[in-house]
Amino acid sequence: MPWYPGATRIELKPESSQPHIQPTQLILHSIVAPWSPRRLYEYWANSTSLESHFGLGYSGDLAQYLPTTIRADANAAANRRPDGTGAISVETASNTSASDPWTDEQAEELIALGIWVHREHNVPLRICRTASDPGYGVHKLHRAWSTSGTACPGPKRADQFVHDIFPEIVRGAGGSQSGGGTYTVRSGDTLSSIALGFKGVTWQDIARANRLTEPYVIHPGQRLTIPAGGKTAPATPPPKPVVDLSRLREAARTDPAKRGTAVSYSGAQVVELALVAEGLLSRSYADGHFGTATVRAYAQWQQRLGYTGTAADGVPGKTSLTNLGNRRGFTVKD
Ligand SMILES: [Zn+2]
Repeated sequence: MPWYPGATRIELKPESSQPHIQPTQLILHSIVAPWSPRRLYEYWANSTSLESHFGLGYSGDLAQYLPTTIRADANAAANRRPDGTGAISVETASNTSASDPWTDEQAEELIALGIWVHREHNVPLRICRTASDPGYGVHKLHRAWSTSGTACPGPKRADQFVHDIFPEIVRGAGGSQSGGGTYTVRSGDTLSSIALGFKGVTWQDIARANRLTEPYVIHPGQRLTIPAGGKTAPATPPPKPVVDLSRLREAARTDPAKRGTAVSYSGAQVVELALVAEGLLSRSYADGHFGTATVRAYAQWQQRLGYTGTAADGVPGKTSLTNLGNRRGFTVKD
């Protein structure tokens, strides 16, 4: 699905008919103006300036202007490479000198979007090591991502990306490689950026395993031993619950059974807990019965995805349920 369910869709035409890309990177920008997503749209709609897929306002209001599988123009050589891969880009409101940090609301949205990009497009959980390396970055990270150099998105935000946003994306996406092998240092790597790629491994673990001391200098081509991940980290993530669409639809149509009686279908509770997490249902209704409160909450979820009328009747359909599962950690079988 090239449209992120967490964003308001404001399609930018005719840019949405630009060439297709296979997205392999997520690049974050600052627009050097305190603009809302709507204002960004107006700017891009009335000029030939370099648009992004997403626009993020100060209060965390996020819009999507182009499908993630269509080229956007903000990233120079990373817009679309000869092999058809390219970057998804995000513009964000900032002050007019791009000196301010992202607000908490912006940071939260960037993290959620970063997790979705990993799940939806398999963008690997690492900071791009080269301009074409799949992963995550900020605009100024690689020279080839701008035509004549850039300071975007400003020093505070570049710092937030490395120390806050990107680690939270890795944590939220819930996985990375396991340690217990070697890693060859690439240009631009730091011990922290390497450690982020391995589950349960800290940069201090890598420093210790390789007898590195302050100032922890590493150089491209150097082979580092990566210790096995921390003892407390689970070897494999727990399997995701599976929700059977036809049983769920049946429950939505035939419930409520009386509260306090046996659970009619356990998958109903998985979906209810996801609706609780989305802020659409009170925790007390997550009882495994797909009753009227749950139907009402699910209808709100459908409306949030842009469905109206009978398409938002509160009886789950495959697309809306899959969207919810992608966000809240279950898979759908039909
Ligand atoms: Zn930029």
